[in-house]
Amino acid sequence: MRILMVSAELAPLAKTGGLADAVAGLSSALADKGHDVRVLMPEYAEPSGATVYDGGGFTVALAESAPVPVYRIASPEIGSDGRIYAGDESDAARFWAFSRAATEAAAALAWRPDIVHCHDWHAALVPALAARQPALEGAGTVLTLHNIGFQGAYPRNALPEDAAAFFASIGDGAGRDWINFLETGIRRASAVTTVSPTYAREISTPELGMGLDALLRERGDDFVGILNGVDYKQWSPETDPFITPRFRIGDGDGKRRVKRALVTELGLTDDAPLIGAVSRLFEQKGIDLLVAALPVLLERTRARFAVLGSGDPDLESALTAAAKAQPDRVAFRCGYDEGLAHRIIAGSDCLVVPSRYEPCGLTQLYALRYGTVPIVRKTGGLADTVTHYDPHTGDGTGSVFEHADVTGLIWGITTALEWYASPTDWERLRRNAERLDFSWRRQSEPYEALYWRIAERRARPSTPS
Ligand code: ADP
Repeated sequence: MRILMVSAELAPLAKTGGLADAVAGLSSALADKGHDVRVLMPEYAEPSGATVYDGGGFTVALAESAPVPVYRIASPEIGSDGRIYAGDESDAARFWAFSRAATEAAAALAWRPDIVHCHDWHAALVPALAARQPALEGAGTVLTLHNIGFQGAYPRNALPEDAAAFFASIGDGAGRDWINFLETGIRRASAVTTVSPTYAREISTPELGMGLDALLRERGDDFVGILNGVDYKQWSPETDPFITPRFRIGDGDGKRRVKRALVTELGLTDDAPLIGAVSRLFEQKGIDLLVAALPVLLERTRARFAVLGSGDPDLESALTAAAKAQPDRVAFRCGYDEGLAHRIIAGSDCLVVPSRYEPCGLTQLYALRYGTVPIVRKTGGLADTVTHYDPHTGDGTGSVFEHADVTGLIWGITTALEWYASPTDWERLRRNAERLDFSWRRQSEPYEALYWRIAERRARPSTPS
């Protein structure tokens, strides 16, 4: 099939989180299977690469060609200061401009997609815009929700005139003084997906749907949860570009050497269990629970902590203070560091993901492959990918706690540390974890099935009822 991905992020070109990894992994897995996949994304800096199309107000350059051609759209509205998200109302105009240009560019390519697969609110207007392009008439559209917490909801007066006119013409947000990019996409895509089955169920309820649950329920069978996958070329101890030494899956000595290098890098001490966390520092991720639990955990256990992340300034300073107070037991690196993320995930004994909600979560999937035992809150994709270890049967892949509070988290961590103290249990647990296969080769299958279903439905003349 000819599949066009439209996304604000794509690893490694532009990444703030899981969206970038997911679009890259899915695209390359589909290409490996013989599909003709291309990606349209914004250019956030000065354009480089050959211009392949000049749309008047925007240009399209071919940034990468094999195995998946990546086209980058540059325009004065998107800007060129390097920022992916401005984080204020100007993003409405930026991603409106991107979506409009992407649709125009898609229609102008000599290549006709069967499926236009749009990701998150930044590309959520594309299905509605594509419906107005005769050249895209044959294409089905998919919208994937990587996080329903980011909807692109803006006051109508934050929109440029042509965007306001567009919303008025489709009637979305009528009677309100604000519009919502994601809402428009959910209404109009041929099918809507999110990144895990449990999260799909959760956001279909008023508790977690963040105002869009009724609309999702209306989509019936056209709204499904498909679990994300992992690009094991990037995230596997045998091929990881950022760890030394690389080691074979299951090689405990290799892993210990990566741990030793990591604790030295971070100035920690080596003779204790090491618990890592790599996360955006926001309320969703529950890192505040970890901060609150630290004093108890430091007193009651021998564990060391290695945290990498950035975000909320209060959390950043709390973690900085904790690391300063006990530098041999707590390390905090503030910022974004791809290499250190790999080393923490590969070298730690456990990786903690205490999210309040989590659409899929990728770090726990990465951790599993390295025999790093995940400690996760039972929510969304975390609940779908980690099962609580049972020492009696020897089944399970991590420590799963129920409640997003300090008591829950302390229980999750101390339970994992009890297993750590028993070499037989720990060995068993690690083996169970390493054996799992969340490769995109597998996880892309439900997407292929969905694409075919949409294409068939569009090819079939509608049957009179
Ligand atoms: P989300 O997309 O909500 O941030 P995910 O778990 O789906 O969460 O994806 C997070 C991705 O971002 C992972 O690849 C993780 O390694 C990466 N990441 C998060 N914070 C950092 C950081 N500070 N430095 C490097 N990589 C990070």
